[in-house]
Amino acid sequence: MSDDEGMYEEDTMDVDDFEDFDEPSPAPSVPLKGRKRFLADLEEMKKFSVIGFGFHGFDLRNLRAGDDEGTIEFKIMTSDGHPVLSANLLVSDPSEYPDHHTFYAFSTSDAPSHIGQVVEDVSSGKSRSIKKTFEDFLSAIHKASREDDDGEADAEADAYDAYDEDDNEFGASRFAHSTLRPKKLQYDFLEVVAAGYRPGLIRFGVDDFSLSISIPVIKLANDIPARALMAWDRRLLSRTQHLTLLISGLRGTYPPLKADGTLTQDAVARGTNLQFKVGLSRQYKPSKEYALEAKRTYGLVDDEAQQQERPLEEEPLLTVDGFTVREESPHDEDEDDDGRFDSFSLSSSLETLLDHSLVRVIQTRIKYGLGWAGAETLVAETERLQQTTDDVIAIDRQLFDNADKTERKLRQTYNLPPDPLVGRETMDELNLPLVAFCYLIRRLTLCTRYCLVCHNKLNTDFEVLKPYVCDSKLCSYQFYAFNRGPSLEYEIISNPETVDLLVSIAYTAAADQCLNEPLPLGMGLRVPVPDARRCVVPLGPTWGHAMAPVVAVPKPVPPTGDPDGLCEFDEMDIISMRASIAEMIHALPPIREMRRHLLKKTKAGKSKPKLKDMDSSIPTAAWLILRWCVASCTAHLEELTSDEDLVRNIDSTWRQFRFTIGAPDAEARFKAAVAEAQKTDANARKYPGLYAFHGSPLKNWHSIIRHGLWFKTIAHGRAYGDGVYFAKDGSTSMGGYAQGTSNVWRHSQIAPRCCVAVAEIVNQPSKFVSNNPHYVVNDTNWIICRYLLVKTGVEPMGETEENTKDVELTKIPLVKLDPAHPLTLTSGGRGGGQKHIQFPEPSYKLEKLLKARRKEYLEEDFDEDDQAIFEAKETPANSQREVIVIENSPPPSKAPALDDWKHDAEWVTASTAHLMPPPFEASPSATMALQRELRAMVKEQESATSLKDLGWYMPPDLIGDNLFQWIVELHSFEETLPIAKGMKTAGINSIIFEIRFPPTFPLAPPFFRIIKPRLLPFIQGGGGHVTGGGSMCMDLLTSDGWLPSYSISAVLLQIKLAISNLEPRPAQLARNWDTPYGVQESLEGFKRAAATHGWKVPSGIDRLVR
Ligand SMILES: [Zn+2]
Repeated sequence: MSDDEGMYEEDTMDVDDFEDFDEPSPAPSVPLKGRKRFLADLEEMKKFSVIGFGFHGFDLRNLRAGDDEGTIEFKIMTSDGHPVLSANLLVSDPSEYPDHHTFYAFSTSDAPSHIGQVVEDVSSGKSRSIKKTFEDFLSAIHKASREDDDGEADAEADAYDAYDEDDNEFGASRFAHSTLRPKKLQYDFLEVVAAGYRPGLIRFGVDDFSLSISIPVIKLANDIPARALMAWDRRLLSRTQHLTLLISGLRGTYPPLKADGTLTQDAVARGTNLQFKVGLSRQYKPSKEYALEAKRTYGLVDDEAQQQERPLEEEPLLTVDGFTVREESPHDEDEDDDGRFDSFSLSSSLETLLDHSLVRVIQTRIKYGLGWAGAETLVAETERLQQTTDDVIAIDRQLFDNADKTERKLRQTYNLPPDPLVGRETMDELNLPLVAFCYLIRRLTLCTRYCLVCHNKLNTDFEVLKPYVCDSKLCSYQFYAFNRGPSLEYEIISNPETVDLLVSIAYTAAADQCLNEPLPLGMGLRVPVPDARRCVVPLGPTWGHAMAPVVAVPKPVPPTGDPDGLCEFDEMDIISMRASIAEMIHALPPIREMRRHLLKKTKAGKSKPKLKDMDSSIPTAAWLILRWCVASCTAHLEELTSDEDLVRNIDSTWRQFRFTIGAPDAEARFKAAVAEAQKTDANARKYPGLYAFHGSPLKNWHSIIRHGLWFKTIAHGRAYGDGVYFAKDGSTSMGGYAQGTSNVWRHSQIAPRCCVAVAEIVNQPSKFVSNNPHYVVNDTNWIICRYLLVKTGVEPMGETEENTKDVELTKIPLVKLDPAHPLTLTSGGRGGGQKHIQFPEPSYKLEKLLKARRKEYLEEDFDEDDQAIFEAKETPANSQREVIVIENSPPPSKAPALDDWKHDAEWVTASTAHLMPPPFEASPSATMALQRELRAMVKEQESATSLKDLGWYMPPDLIGDNLFQWIVELHSFEETLPIAKGMKTAGINSIIFEIRFPPTFPLAPPFFRIIKPRLLPFIQGGGGHVTGGGSMCMDLLTSDGWLPSYSISAVLLQIKLAISNLEPRPAQLARNWDTPYGVQESLEGFKRAAATHGWKVPSGIDRLVR
């Protein structure tokens, strides 16, 4: 059911509907259906129109049966008597009334276009009774007029007013109103902001909306290494954008979930059906058009779900067309629409996860007091065992607690998002946007650890570098059939060299009869019977060195085909499978031709070119094998062509690929190993890593790349011990081990002959299994692969693409290599000799990219809809937005001033010696908000070129004792002010403030008070908006005036302005300025001032200053 249809409740043409009216009394026996029922209902409706059928200020009048059977004539007037419309209603077939008919409406008078649209829309509603149709119709007219008159921003507020007026008139009218609690939404939005994310409301009409929550990808890169993000999908950092979650299906209800995670009463009544979309948006939320579009695609997803339920044997639905079920938008550069909402490679997997299990996992967490991982395991086990959750947890509670324990350990190497369900004591409804978004970020961060399809934890004994599927056949089937994963088309267009390489090494592995797992199983492949001549296992070991030979089938029996000449790939023996894979790849056209085909311009409205349309003689299975070659590669490879990336002193017949690790913790574990080595090894402190080559015959690389490079090569008895072997000179790897092959894919443009990996290893060779003549390393955490070098069959065509000028080249930082362990390349040919290999700093390019993104990123203001939510209070527009403006106004002077203000530690220490104990109340959300706020303050302070211009100072040695209690100095007051003169005379360096934060921060304001110096109280002729107790007398710091969007530095500037204000009287030092203010007196002063001005004192302020 689409969301729009959901706006209408089930047809409830029963006796209850009539109870709202005193007369006419309900028909004693209304026929159940058909023409008679239609006529009976029409009679009732006539009576209603006589006694008055009014709704939202519009009345139905002059209703009567039309001349033709099944038609109804009527007029609509405003309740004050102005005609709006004359129209006819026509039923498609009275015999199908009231369940399966359609009503058509057409106006018989001139109607304004917005009304005309409503008339037209009648036919698109679902089958309803006559009365219900008119109710909905009047409601729609009301809505349309309102949107036409007022603009949409006010519509909702008005609808609230209308609610009260109209509610009693017709009970059934209730559905037309939103069951949104603005206060709750406001609170939840503020919590989202406090967590560092951006909430948004997208309105589709008076009572329909979606919610969005987003984070700029550049901020996400603080927690998920950019390297991993790039490996998952380069589009993530290709431009400035947000990772955005869109929640729809709320049906106008907020909040949707109770404290225990079940639907609220309103949500149940409205048929709330939560649906999640994950994508990338240019702005902090997608535009209405794109959000609506995202909602609509649910029709497609529903189809998909139905297909999945179908038994696999029934129909071979796996066609190349299937790929378009959930097509990614390949970031069309010419469609530069800021409102865009695009999916990326992980969208559909994350969406099905959220749709399918988020609510259940939340409920399970709360009910059993588990963490995310424990609850996920419990939900999965419950599904697997087909028992009740209570029974499952009774069997082995330990299992689920252990899952949580494992995740706590993971937090050491992963930066997981905060958990809003921890320490939750309130019985308030859940903050669904926040909880859902934190869960999403968590799963995104951990995406390589879970199957993309069934979402269960992967149990692999090798490192997964990119998100992939588990080894269940059903999962690979769905992965390939429904395009859960990187888009093949996108890869061909944007990274054709890598696709070429992957296809080529798969071909060689298959044709050389040594391709091993993973095999393209479970994809429902039907292939032609392979040529028996290919089904021959060559002599000798299939792995270049010391690998267990493949279980050889001595006499492969080629399968026989079905009448269509095809046979089931999965039923073949491995020899035939390899032969078949080689044949299928053989049939494919060159990658650059595919690219050209995909880039063909199409006319608007026509679907984009599809690969399979290139050549109908190519078997469908060949296209699937192509897709498998790309998607099953869980490492990320990217060809390097620019001088700033290229490894130096490697001859140009080698093409270079950057090998990126997509596992977020891989780099972290490597760094940890480096740090460990540096503890005891001075040399490792100076040169953390050393580089070495690892070679293997070309036919092995298909498997090596997919197994995290080292998996199969680590532990096999060899001359210098067990471990991964590395060469110190390239010629060893490039020559011996990386032997070539005669089986090269005929259409390969790269035409690889052999491959060599370049790895970085922790620089502590004494701890290696062996370090002479080769490095032998047995701890894979010590190794990280950086490059893949591919010897090509073709001589390069002249120079590389972008030739950086020599001058610029010297600017590119190189990795500092340990002179004791140089990496060399000896070449025998002419111009030979030994060259030292050098590496551009691997993070250089990425840092450049990140810098560019950071520079581009500008935090947008919330739009009017969202601003209205933040300000959903009675307070008239106050001047607070100006505060935010002031924050940005003073331009920092470039050169540090000679007479800059200097911090005097002694002055502060002496003044804060007798500080009250810190506040004892804390909360996770306030802690998060304060950490962010503190970081921002420290950053601002550190980057300030002049403290004098900054105007405030946070003594670094007083930061961090308690997050909820800060010490800040205000200084550098305008010299002509009495207070500045007084301070100068008395030798006072600054005014020292204590700021105390409530556990409800940033929803409630912090409490500011002066510790020292004491100022002249107002009653004794003082001023500067300081109370007799040293607290600030400012509306801004009260419940009424405070806005959670204020930054502390902005507030400090406001306070400085207030103290500098000469009206009504200037601030001056008290004679006993050296006596610090007490906490109690400051609180009393604040309350007095608030009472005088009628301001609301924040609740709980007494507890704040116990
Ligand atoms: Zn799976």
